[in-house]
Amino acid sequence: MVIEIDENSGFCFGVRNAVETAEKALMAGEKIFSLGQIVHNDIEVERLSKMGLKTIDYDEFRRLRDCKVLIRAHGEPPETYRIAKENGITIIDATCPIVKRLQQKIRQTWEEIKIKGGQVVIYGKPGHAEVLGLIGQTDNNAILTDGEINLDRIDFRKEIHLFSQTTMNPEAYEALAEKMRKKIKEYGAPDPGKLLTVHRTICTQVSHRQPHLESFARSHDIIIFVSGKESSNGKMLFSICKNVNPESYFVSSPGDIKKEWFIGKQKAGICGATSTPGWLIRKVSEVISSFNI
Ligand code: SF4
Repeated sequence: MVIEIDENSGFCFGVRNAVETAEKALMAGEKIFSLGQIVHNDIEVERLSKMGLKTIDYDEFRRLRDCKVLIRAHGEPPETYRIAKENGITIIDATCPIVKRLQQKIRQTWEEIKIKGGQVVIYGKPGHAEVLGLIGQTDNNAILTDGEINLDRIDFRKEIHLFSQTTMNPEAYEALAEKMRKKIKEYGAPDPGKLLTVHRTICTQVSHRQPHLESFARSHDIIIFVSGKESSNGKMLFSICKNVNPESYFVSSPGDIKKEWFIGKQKAGICGATSTPGWLIRKVSEVISSFNI
């Protein structure tokens, strides 16, 4: 059996930057805390924790004083920076530059439209860290939808600015935009484009992977997708593989792999999410090689 690793899989530059920032500080002997898991991958978090990175939640963060806290690639709402300032906490800001720009754009848009009753709508996963950081830019006034919930909170007769969390599916985002255009028409506006602005904010590091991953999954008899269970990008990219190749398996660690999956297969493909470390993908490949199929 031939085993092939998808060369586009693994950390996106935002996650790589956050992990490297943490490693650099830890290797310099600094004591740092990560506010939330630095990456949605338990094995990578464990590796960094052995190096000394301590993951904390928001309650612990509020109690900390005079220390260093790393903000991960997902970014944080303004409230987090305010608390840090009050408590003498030095922020090591590893927010992905793409997320940072999106936060700034949302804040700027909100400042411009709030006086005239305009609305910011965010398409994202409820409770996701990046989403909380985005909503925070509007002092929590933005309306969050996953495509279904909260649509009844939108006033379709008023100006709407639609933004997406960076890791959402582009087709589902377009479907939501279309749904909103129809609603605006139902409320009597003939040209929805005058009321609705759709901001193209899905990260190309994710969207460009999708067509590539589709053809990668199609061209192999079996796909092993490596990702943390909590990664929303991982779930989304895995569903793309599964749709085109039913012989796709989601694994979080080499221990999840079963030898019988590969019997009778000739070409195995290994791929992963933007939060999957390259070393883990390689380890999975080694385990599959050891089956000698
Ligand atoms: S997916 Fe894109 S926006 Fe999100 S952390 Fe990675 S590079 Fe940044």
